[in-house]
Amino acid sequence: MYDSESSSDGGWISWFCDLEGHDEAMKMILSSESPDSEDLNDQGFLEIYQCAMDLYGLIHSRFILSPRGLAMMREKYLLGTFGSCQRVLCERQLVLPIGLSEELSTSRVKTYCPRCQEVYVPRQKNLDIDGAYFGTSFSHVLLKSYPELYPKEGPVTYIPTIYGFKIFGQKGSRYEIQYDVMGKVVNQKDVDSVLKKKIASGAAGNVNGTSSDAQVNKTPAYK
Ligand SMILES: [Zn+2]
Repeated sequence: MYDSESSSDGGWISWFCDLEGHDEAMKMILSSESPDSEDLNDQGFLEIYQCAMDLYGLIHSRFILSPRGLAMMREKYLLGTFGSCQRVLCERQLVLPIGLSEELSTSRVKTYCPRCQEVYVPRQKNLDIDGAYFGTSFSHVLLKSYPELYPKEGPVTYIPTIYGFKIFGQKGSRYEIQYDVMGKVVNQKDVDSVLKKKIASGAAGNVNGTSSDAQVNKTPAYK
């Protein structure tokens, strides 16, 4: 959609309109008439309707990156239009809409929390909006444009505990298993070597990840 062949002459809009049926889609967007029941039973109409929605969505994804679009989206964000983070420890931090791809029909719109810096499925069930209508960069461009919107406090990490004791290999543990950005374990060998040492000295319990720091260093999780 955004490749060089589409931007060589009149840009991607004229390229889009030159495709079969797409000029009809453009007319549909500019028309003030609503489709009637006859239209909604017409397969040809529905195909153009989908094209019109996609065109409108892609224009939308460009518009919200413009200074005026950013200012309007900032207002909506501050009013809580996009909802709040569903992560308990983010304490209802406001979220922004985000796409996981610039390509149409890849995934539906998600929400991005600037506090935990994670994306979530929106709370509204069956929200059938293409993520490409917002794009992957919008949330971050908005926050860079209005740095005061960055949360004042960083994310609070949830620490799993059993009877108040941190769990070996889990978050908060001295021997926490760590992952790279792709979710791959990066320190398995180090953790295994600690486990082996503890087993050799008879201090650790179960090797299946359920042995706890309680058995390793007697450190309770709470202060
Ligand atoms: Zn969050």
